[in-house]
Amino acid sequence: MASSPPGSFARLPRQHTISRPVTLAGTGLHTGRAVSVRLLPAAEDNGIVFIRDGTAIPARVEQIDVSPRCSALANRGTQVMTVEHLLAAVAGVGIDNLRVEVEGPEIPAMDGSALPFARALLRAGIVPQEAPIRRITLHEPVWVSDGDRHVIAVPADGLTVAAGVDYGREHGRAQAYAYAFDRPPTPHLVSLVTTSVGGPAEELAAALHAPAGAIVPEDPEPPFVRELAPARTFCFADWIPAIQAAGLGGGGSLANTIVLFDEGPSTPLRFANELARHKALDLLGDLALVGGRLNACVVAIKAGHALHLAAAEQIRRQADVEG
Ligand SMILES: [Zn+2]
Repeated sequence: MASSPPGSFARLPRQHTISRPVTLAGTGLHTGRAVSVRLLPAAEDNGIVFIRDGTAIPARVEQIDVSPRCSALANRGTQVMTVEHLLAAVAGVGIDNLRVEVEGPEIPAMDGSALPFARALLRAGIVPQEAPIRRITLHEPVWVSDGDRHVIAVPADGLTVAAGVDYGREHGRAQAYAYAFDRPPTPHLVSLVTTSVGGPAEELAAALHAPAGAIVPEDPEPPFVRELAPARTFCFADWIPAIQAAGLGGGGSLANTIVLFDEGPSTPLRFANELARHKALDLLGDLALVGGRLNACVVAIKAGHALHLAAAEQIRRQADVEG
């Protein structure tokens, strides 16, 4: 990061969008339907907006639709399910404005993580816009609880998401993970490629399949993409009958979900604490609904989407918005 020259415009906390459209297709985790999303650039101050059947559904706490086992948004009766991993990728790579055209009722599960979305966004090229970012600043702690489940948000510079889980069994023992985004809030987009790698921007842009002129990370795999985005959805094998009885998980498979059997996980874990990392990723996606760059340290203990979303709503009510 030290190679960024004084006055590099990329250091200013400005909004970002993508440079060109990109499409991802797959299966909906809960509906089992073949679904796709087309991610497109959006004008500054638009925020993240889902479009389904001609209805715009802004990614804001006001549009939260109660839905078990995933985060769903709705507007005037049109719903989009399982938005959390895409929103985590969008937040994680530092995008403020994006149009998300959805074909079907749900965002595709991909591999159960945010990695395919994050890589697609980086491939599409991330470009700065003129308007300053919207900063969401907490002044008082926010604490929401449900029994022994908690989400605690504390005022901080930048954003830290942390999660702890404990399923009290051999392959779900207590584990925790925290991911801190550096300051300024677009940490992994801070250097122009021309100054960070000493070569023509076009060469690196071509290598990354990004349009020349786009700002691409000096590290093609920024820390978020290495450390948080790859953590996958999981469930314990003995949860599956109840999930299916609720009409959910219809698209769940060993390709998009870590299934934890008594003997161990269905697939080698990407991280020893992948369960806690995935919970931190879910938290990041759910917190994106505050509608700006949140300055807070947020810790989720044994929490799930319902509690994350309750915290996001309370943060939005209590926080100051600048920009
Ligand atoms: Zn998840």
